[in-house]
Amino acid sequence: MATTQRPLTLGVVADDFTGATDVASMLVRAGMRTVLVIGVPAEPPPQADAVVVALKSRTIAPAEAVAQSLAAWDWLRAAGARQCYFKYCSTFDSTPQGNIGPVTQALLARTGGDFTIACPAFPENGRTIYRGHLFVGDQLLSESGMRHHPLTPMTDANLVRVLQAQTQLRVGLLGHEATGAGAEAVRERMAALRAEGVAVAVADAVRNEDLLALAEACADLPLVTAGSGLALGLPAAYATRGWLQPDAAAGDTGAVGGLAAVLSGSCSAATNAQVQRWLDDRRPAWRIDPLAAAGEEAIADAALDWAGPRLADGPVLVYATASPDEVRRVQQALGVQQAGERVERILAHTARRLHDAGVRRFVVAGGESSGAVTAALGVGQLRIGVTIAPGVPWCRAADRPLALALKSGNFGTVDFFARALELQA
Ligand code: ADP
Repeated sequence: MATTQRPLTLGVVADDFTGATDVASMLVRAGMRTVLVIGVPAEPPPQADAVVVALKSRTIAPAEAVAQSLAAWDWLRAAGARQCYFKYCSTFDSTPQGNIGPVTQALLARTGGDFTIACPAFPENGRTIYRGHLFVGDQLLSESGMRHHPLTPMTDANLVRVLQAQTQLRVGLLGHEATGAGAEAVRERMAALRAEGVAVAVADAVRNEDLLALAEACADLPLVTAGSGLALGLPAAYATRGWLQPDAAAGDTGAVGGLAAVLSGSCSAATNAQVQRWLDDRRPAWRIDPLAAAGEEAIADAALDWAGPRLADGPVLVYATASPDEVRRVQQALGVQQAGERVERILAHTARRLHDAGVRRFVVAGGESSGAVTAALGVGQLRIGVTIAPGVPWCRAADRPLALALKSGNFGTVDFFARALELQA
């Protein structure tokens, strides 16, 4: 790892945890040494080119999301960040009130800007925007599975309209005739939009090159708002301004040896397949039964009694992952929220005990599950390492040799667990 003193260039405010690891991993891929912090810490950030603050503000009350986002930016600004990047989901997940509009409006005022872009596009992952309309693969957002999302159903693909309903700022369109024609054309169009009184421009992007042109044209704005795709282009733009020397070894966080374990609390289709592959490969695995009569600590103790003697022989899996039918059965018996919280507490106890037993490499499946495990291990700051799968990097606790791969439910190929462990052997 390079040890030269380098100023902080980019401060990212991310509206959820796995979204934060996603954007951080893009920045590392493009050569920025990146640190992720969970919430706003009391102390200043460690040395890095980019710092990402992971909030949990996507679906909370707008006023609270605004307050948390401003606190995050104030902390990043105090550490010297030149540009603010508000990161949200590539499917623009928001409720009719926000929180993308209110947070954008508040951050724009706080950064002293009068114009910014909104661009959740990431063509490499099938998220494109044309004439302001967001596509998921070949479908309009409003015809994709997102229309059924339990918390943030997206029933309108026209992002200009969606965003305009969330903010008093004037929203306009930065069309593909500009973003497809290079950075100079984007600059000209941005100037014209600004002259018309537009404060937020939804930006079309159908190819990765469009994002690169957009990044080059936007690097001088005090604020950008986007999914993770824009992060691929910003480091090069900073480099041309002399603000950054991209580092091909930005993801080199140093090897963490020691025992390894996989903890799986996600019940997504992808995670079910990943657990099944581990079982099919006859690797050691222990199933947590949320309906067991024992208390949460006793269930974790039982997992440890099983895992302890096996750890020296290689990684073990402890999982609560179950089929939709099984999850329904558990939820009917315990209540939906109580079931989730019980499993998360069991995973947290298990993580703590595995750590006491010498485990230093953890693969965790599930967004909420990852939050529970990092909190249980007392991890507040993570250095971002190599990419395991798009949007999922290895992370290393900033203060000790402890490696974590935190995977949101639907990410990763079927061999994700073994693949992750090979990369951090
Ligand atoms: P994902 O990223 O796939 O959404 P999360 O960890 O965010 O995964 O959410 C999964 C939720 O399901 C967690 O609250 C977890 O505690 C809960 N859960 C895990 N296993 C079971 C199970 N067998 N029965 C009921 N709930 C479960």
